[in-house]
Amino acid sequence: MSTVTDAQRMEKIVSLCKRRGLIFQSSEIYGGLNGLWDYGPLGVELKRNLKNYWWRVMVHERDDVVGLDGSILMNRAVWKASGHEDTFSDPMVDCRSCKARLRADQLIDKGKGRQCPNCGGKDLTEPRAFNLMFKTYVGATEDESSVTYLRPETAQAIFVQFKNVLEVSRKKLPFGIAQIGKAFRNEINPRNFTFRSREFEQMELEYFCRAEEGMKLLEYWKDERLKFYENIGIARDKLHVLTVPDEERAFYSKGTYDIEYDFPFGRQELEGVAYRTDYDLSQHQKASGKSLEYFDEETKQKFIPHVVEPSAGVDRTVLALICEAYSEDQAPDEKGKMETRLVLRFHPRIAPIKCAVFPLLKNKEPLVAKAKEIVDLLRPHVFVFYDESGAIGRRYRRQDEIGTPFGITVDFETLGEKDSTLRDTVTLRERDSMKQERVAIKDLPDILVSRIR
Ligand code: ATP
Repeated sequence: MSTVTDAQRMEKIVSLCKRRGLIFQSSEIYGGLNGLWDYGPLGVELKRNLKNYWWRVMVHERDDVVGLDGSILMNRAVWKASGHEDTFSDPMVDCRSCKARLRADQLIDKGKGRQCPNCGGKDLTEPRAFNLMFKTYVGATEDESSVTYLRPETAQAIFVQFKNVLEVSRKKLPFGIAQIGKAFRNEINPRNFTFRSREFEQMELEYFCRAEEGMKLLEYWKDERLKFYENIGIARDKLHVLTVPDEERAFYSKGTYDIEYDFPFGRQELEGVAYRTDYDLSQHQKASGKSLEYFDEETKQKFIPHVVEPSAGVDRTVLALICEAYSEDQAPDEKGKMETRLVLRFHPRIAPIKCAVFPLLKNKEPLVAKAKEIVDLLRPHVFVFYDESGAIGRRYRRQDEIGTPFGITVDFETLGEKDSTLRDTVTLRERDSMKQERVAIKDLPDILVSRIR
């Protein structure tokens, strides 16, 4: 049994992410920039698979949700009306001893007053509000009249386009508008790898409803979202639902759940599911002077809909997926000796590469030709990777390490040299069990698609 601590496990995960091209530090050659990350060739696939699956279940597989892709910069008036300009802030404290800038809730208190978590110093400034929005200027003049912000959440575009979307989609309540996109927060203290970043992506749904349906839909969406995480391979017992207590909830919210995950660095929020009442639309109606009401044709009533919002972080979920998938087990090497195998046990649905294709030997032209034929056959269906270099066992290990769920090997049986009944069959190896089965090449697309979807 290995006795790696959670901190060591996290260190291994961060180093695997860099070594295998999942996640790099942004601007690395210039020393990086705190709280910013780049997704490498495999990371971008993982992230896309996650976003595509979210879009599939939240939009495509439903009749009651449509999509939107709003701009990142919006009229400053949006951020005034939403309350972000005045109140989207964290309380910040400076440690006068070590000069650390801290969020007030990061201070430690061992019964002898507040202390700096870095140096233990007690010479701290009073907390002051630090607005988390990145300020910028639109147009050639840099003055107050041209100020706006990089959006700190994607949701506001949905609220301000509510009327347009309602008109074009002709949806009846309850219905939702979904969006995936970048958001920016000038976090005081980014940390825990990508968990708290300054630039990140959100997957948000605003699900509009009648006031009397709000509380029921809050439960409904909490349950749907838990199912989602299970369906991408996160164990139910590592997911937790926190009922946000009254005093911590936004004043307009009638109920909020945080869906949390047991990261190696502790239990932390993956997603918030909040019943936000009619606060957002009311604010924008008031500030813009434009009606954001819904007209109920049956009752002939006009009213501002209420909304339930499941708001998930792409980057946090990607990190949870990697932490969940990371495992070490024992497997035989080329000579049958047991060795430690590093495996990312991704659900096939989100694995960056779905299937690797190997000719047994790279210097046997018929094997190579057949393997390349299989790559061509599979490419329209799944993302495949061809690899001919090194011993076959080593090639499997490389794929295990990046979580490729299936491996196909073309061997001499495939060519039908010894047994003609095996002509045009290959071995299909499954990553976790390492079990191999013999399957006909022509059946590969169906088999893979059915096991990956
Ligand atoms: P936290 O309390 O951790 O700062 P929050 O409650 O402010 O998060 P929300 O405003 O509810 O977060 O945002 C919805 C989701 O967006 C979060 O559940 C999270 O997945 C994601 N998110 C928010 N801030 C960040 C960040 N700095 N880095 C990465 N993801 C984030």
